[in-house]
Amino acid sequence: MALEEYARKRRFEDTPEPPPKKAKSKRAAKPYFCVQRHDATRLHYDFRLEIDGVLKSWAVPKGPSLDPAVKHFAAHVEDHPIDYGGFEGNIPAGNYGAGSVMLWDRGTFDLLGDVSGNAQIERGDLKFHLDGEKLKGDFALVHMKGRGKGNEWLLIKKRDEFAVPGYDVEEHAYSVISGRTQEEIAQNLPARKEKRKSAGATDRVWKSDRPAAKKAAAPAKKAAPAAAKKKRSSSSAT
Ligand code: MN
Repeated sequence: MALEEYARKRRFEDTPEPPPKKAKSKRAAKPYFCVQRHDATRLHYDFRLEIDGVLKSWAVPKGPSLDPAVKHFAAHVEDHPIDYGGFEGNIPAGNYGAGSVMLWDRGTFDLLGDVSGNAQIERGDLKFHLDGEKLKGDFALVHMKGRGKGNEWLLIKKRDEFAVPGYDVEEHAYSVISGRTQEEIAQNLPARKEKRKSAGATDRVWKSDRPAAKKAAAPAKKAAPAAAKKKRSSSSAT
């Protein structure tokens, strides 16, 4: 039942998104999480946690934050297949969610406490520790009971050593796999060859098929992300 709504909304002959497929239960090591920046009708971030062979998903209009002082609204949406967690690209016009999708962050997570992920979702209080390239530390997703459609949750950063007061998600608006901005993805431009500067990504090795010319020359002086900042209200795709 988990991926039926995902499948119902899409025509897989028309979109590069992966078809529904529940993952085998024997997956190695820690579960996967990702965040996709999705420039659809409205720009939003899709926050996904691997639980029981699917990606449990929340749409977060303002995006995740490392600031414990903010609670960002998160709409619980349909499960997505595990393969979706590696997706970056463009959903063609006329398809569900048409627009560009950036793989904004990815990594693994640990559930906090002894209760299973699905039971924590059931009780409306899901606690986890993220180890992503941008997002790290303890977080909670809390269901706002007795509200509206019943899918209203809040995404909250817990106070710990990874907290960043005043965190601005839009200062980190580039892909963790290609280094591209949303606009570069929308235009199908190739991956950037230089590693982006990012808190938490310091030990990540940027794999390149070309020599990184500037890397050895001036490691301290990195180019500022060009025009990476984009207002939430605008929407270039469809
Ligand atoms: Mn989305």
